[in-house]
Parts: sequence; C-alpha cells; structure tokens
Amino acid sequence: MSDVNLENMTPEQIAEYQKKNCIFCHIINNRIPSYKVYEDDKVLAILDINPIHPGHILLLPKEHYYLLSQIPDKLIRYLFVVAKYLSSAMIKTLGAGGVNIFVANGAGAGQKAPHFMIHLIPRFEDDGLEIFKLPGYKIDENVLKQLADVLKKLLAKEGKHE
Ligand SMILES: [Zn+2]
Repeated sequence: MSDVNLENMTPEQIAEYQKKNCIFCHIINNRIPSYKVYEDDKVLAILDINPIHPGHILLLPKEHYYLLSQIPDKLIRYLFVVAKYLSSAMIKTLGAGGVNIFVANGAGAGQKAPHFMIHLIPRFEDDGLEIFKLPGYKIDENVLKQLADVLKKLLAKEGKHE
C-alpha cells in the first residue's frame, strides 16, 4: 500500500482504487458473503452484521459512490423508493414500531464506510436507544433568518432538480 500515492492520481484513478479496496463492492460482487434481503440490477440490501438491532439493514447502490453528492439524482430517488418498501417489510415482519432511516454523509458526519449506504434501523417500544435523541437548541430568530437566506440563495443558484 505504501507505493500508492493518491495525490498523483486522477479522480478516475482514485475512484478505481477506492472501488478495488471497498469491502462493500466485494460484497456486491459476491467475493465476500453477506445476508442479502433484496437485490436488483441497481441496489443491494443486506443485514448489518453488527446491527444496532437485529434486522438493521444496509441499502447500497451497486455502483461505488462514497458521498451522496456523487450519486445521480435518478439513483438517489430509486434508493429511497427501495427504502420505502424495505421499511414497510421490516414493520410487517419484525414487528417494529417504526424504522429510522439514516445516512452518515461524509467523514465529518461519522461515515466510516468507503461506500455510500442508507441505514434502516428497526425500532421497538422501550428499545432503550438514545442515539436519535438529539438536542434541540433555542436559537435566535435573526440567526434562523440568516441561515435560511444563505441556503436559499445557494439552492436557487443551483437550480431545480429533475
Ligand atoms: Zn464500494
């Protein structure tokens, strides 16, 4: 590995290198076994082998992408359609009261895997999970207005999406 210098590589070469070393790409290509729950030509859903709860599913695009921003809109849309059916199935078959759908998008958000994924975490009454109890701050209205303005301007510039 020491002879690999990502700085001298083109973005395409970096992507190719990451793909070759991606455990999830190996799972998708059946080089590493997994517990598949759904598969088609675009996506694969597997059981997380270190689940937050039994039945915790990882939904992966079959193409290698690291970040949400790299994924074509059409595929993101499709991923969430599949997430919809998976979460319904989890509620029916696992008796879950609900499903948390979670993405760690980027290292700064706690993403550890090199491959983009959507976590589907079944929730049960009194399951003791505190991870989604995030703080809700009191915030100044001027700050809210400034934040909305900055985001609105940027999003307007980037235009409408399909
Ligand atoms: Zn991958």
